[in-house]
Amino acid sequence: MIQKVGIIGGGISGLSSYYYLRNGIHLTSKNVSNGLKINIFEKSNKVGGNIQTKIFKGDKKDEKIIVEEGPRSLRALGRGLNTLELIKRLGISNDVIFSSANSNGKFIFLDGKPKEIPMSGLFDIIKFSFKHSIVGSILKEPFNKIPKQVKQMDPNWDESIYDFFSRRLGKNMAKTFIEPTCLGIYGGDYTNLSIKSTFKRAALLESFGGLIFGLLFKSKKQKQFESELDKNENRLLPSKTSLKELFDKDSDKTNVFSFKDSGLSRMIERLKSLIDSDSQTKLYLSTSISEIQKNNKDNGSIKVVDNKGNQYQYDQLISTIPLNQLAPMFKKSDPKLYQLLQLVDYTSIAVVNLVYKSNKKVLKKIQDKGFGYLVPSKENQSVIGVCFDSNTFPEFVNNNEKENSSEQSIITVMIGGNKGIKDRNDHWIDVTNTSKDKLLEISLNHLDKVLDIESSPDFTNVSIYENGIPHYKVGHQNLLNEIQQHITENYGTSLLLGGNSIDGVGINDSIHKSKQLVSSLKF
Ligand SMILES: Cc1cc2nc3c(=O)[nH]c(=O)nc-3n(C[C@H](O)[C@H](O)[C@H](O)COP(=O)(O)OP(=O)(O)OC[C@H]3O[C@@H](n4cnc5c(N)ncnc54)[C@H](O)[C@@H]3O)c2cc1C
Repeated sequence: MIQKVGIIGGGISGLSSYYYLRNGIHLTSKNVSNGLKINIFEKSNKVGGNIQTKIFKGDKKDEKIIVEEGPRSLRALGRGLNTLELIKRLGISNDVIFSSANSNGKFIFLDGKPKEIPMSGLFDIIKFSFKHSIVGSILKEPFNKIPKQVKQMDPNWDESIYDFFSRRLGKNMAKTFIEPTCLGIYGGDYTNLSIKSTFKRAALLESFGGLIFGLLFKSKKQKQFESELDKNENRLLPSKTSLKELFDKDSDKTNVFSFKDSGLSRMIERLKSLIDSDSQTKLYLSTSISEIQKNNKDNGSIKVVDNKGNQYQYDQLISTIPLNQLAPMFKKSDPKLYQLLQLVDYTSIAVVNLVYKSNKKVLKKIQDKGFGYLVPSKENQSVIGVCFDSNTFPEFVNNNEKENSSEQSIITVMIGGNKGIKDRNDHWIDVTNTSKDKLLEISLNHLDKVLDIESSPDFTNVSIYENGIPHYKVGHQNLLNEIQQHITENYGTSLLLGGNSIDGVGINDSIHKSKQLVSSLKF
């Protein structure tokens, strides 16, 4: 019987694990584990992990400017519905804001300029498609060879995103459109990222005849296969899949959301307030776990030691920290697990926030450029993406409801990404080895050159996420299977791994993973 649970990590994965442990995984669950004692350990002096929001003073009285240091938005689709369900349960639905329709535009940096990918206007779509070889790639796709291993659905098959898409759609399409997408989500090197662990559905389509064939002409076998996958994926998602039914709010057709007044940190603040008022739960801030040992096999309990030498015993331990940071905790007690966990790869990225106040010029330069743009490596830039946050969420610069004429802008520049990128981009920057001043200078120079923004920002903020995003490299799934098998054999179910290193790198994935872990426990 589980009486005491330890959670390592106070990011969204740790905090949502706490929530589901205490409140059950279902919308209708009530006080499922009142007697359970829960301890949460967080290395830093505050919770939130990657999710950190900064508030600056705006132009007008009482006006705030909301700046996201790390993650900036969530999608209200798929696993996002689960996040919306959690938000509803947390009682903060009224604070949700959906992105403005103005941010719908998709831009890619091509030939030295951000260019919009046309989504409407037949002539524009045709012109763009011909110019960037899209038509030829699509016409040829159904005739491209499918490897034997894929046809036979070999469970051990995996390959890089680049190999997969350049085989199906050609090298040009891969370099121009697929690579920037990988940079945007993973800061990743697509010649090394696993197709199976990232674009799972696309990989599957190939085994049913290719991307186009698999999408348009579904065989009975494919439909059966996909329905099994959907059943598995939807198992923990709310049953009412319509956003409106679940949430009673119009998504403004954008499906991208955050929170007014405090950005994504709203979820963190609310979860933290629940923990603070829970007498059976203790949150240890500024406490880093440094060692984990299983006790004897009979009682299956687990011991953890913190950086101050304090020891704690748990029936169940949930780790939500990156697997490479978990590795050293097993160095003495379990060298095999230590070695396996170290093999999981991570990417470093720098985020530079720039705030411009009372600046019509900057506002004008960015207001028709949608959410921002991604930069393929072939453009040889140090910057890998630029977000116009104030286009996406105008509320972040205009939260004084009486006035509606903000001249403030927030621009966020991303630099760095996986070290593999340097093989095809001479201007790739190792952000872990570059000063914050230099990163700021690179961002300002880029914006000056590309958008002719000469003005100096009123506020700046530079964050470096060293090993901040998991990099699911080819073979990731097999490595995870090996890790899981070792854990099951040696720890039974007393050690569970959560966080975003396993099944999706986003916040929605992290919350979904926490729900999955808690649903596997028997109280
Ligand atoms: C720059 C950037 C932009 C992103 N943008 C988006 C986005 O727009 N949308 C999106 O959905 N996702 C985005 N992500 C991904 C998102 O941040 C993660 O999915 C999510 O925050 C992961 O949460 P977590 O709790 O699993 O991990 P983390 O947030 O990393 O939290 C782990 C916590 O564990 C603590 N910890 C580590 N070691 C120990 C130890 N030994 N003892 C105790 N505590 C420890 C850490 O201090 C940290 O607080 C982005 C990530 C980055 C880096």
